[in-house]
Amino acid sequence: MGSESIADPKIIIAIDGLSGCGKSTLAKDLSKQLSYLHIDSGAMYRSVALHLIREGISVNDIEDIKQALQSLEISTKLHDQVSIPYMNGERVDHLLQTSEVVSIVSEVAAIKEVRSFLKGIQQDLGKDKGIVMDGRDIGSVIFPDAELKLYITADIGARTDRRAKELEARGLEMTKEFIKSNLEKRDYIDSNREVSPLIKADDAICIDTTKLTREDQLNEAIGYVEEVKSRLNAAK
Ligand code: C5P
Repeated sequence: MGSESIADPKIIIAIDGLSGCGKSTLAKDLSKQLSYLHIDSGAMYRSVALHLIREGISVNDIEDIKQALQSLEISTKLHDQVSIPYMNGERVDHLLQTSEVVSIVSEVAAIKEVRSFLKGIQQDLGKDKGIVMDGRDIGSVIFPDAELKLYITADIGARTDRRAKELEARGLEMTKEFIKSNLEKRDYIDSNREVSPLIKADDAICIDTTKLTREDQLNEAIGYVEEVKSRLNAAK
């Protein structure tokens, strides 16, 4: 489903925000509407975490982590227009939501070698534009020149409820207490780490999704896309 009413040019849309506030859902909906590529950068950090768990490497063993990164290939492939994460050629999207992975992913993402490893891959995916990428540092570090930057927030109750529903739909059982404390722990680590902490880029537009339906969020974001495109067209 493309959006014929929106004229080219292709742009980069960077979506950042706290864990579980609906970034990936909005990014997915936007990319479908615009026929853009969607990249969930969180899935890449989760894939690295999964790899370390499988290899039995602790998040404190920086030398072993550097070594492990040398033989790790993170990529995405399109299946029915949806981009799916792959790790060393293995499809891993169904393995990234477990409590083992979410318990360590923010510690893994705070390691500078891991961030620089993924930065190159992420920037390369945006070289032809026409991409929606969501994460924590997309508007601030990965694509500082993105034509549209969105910063998504929602209150912790709404985020916990949404994540619980998502996990239930995938057949994964986690208590609401675990989900809430994991979201708060990840928010803290992601916002306070030294390398590329989660921040709202100065030129990002804030959307609070607490009371918005999925459709409301998409409509609001499409409105911003149209504004950006008409500004770019006017400047031609
Ligand atoms: O978005 P998602 O919850 O899948 O991200 C998992 C974790 O990956 C986050 O809690 C964060 O620690 C890390 N992450 C990051 N930078 C990004 C995307 C995700 O640090 N751009």
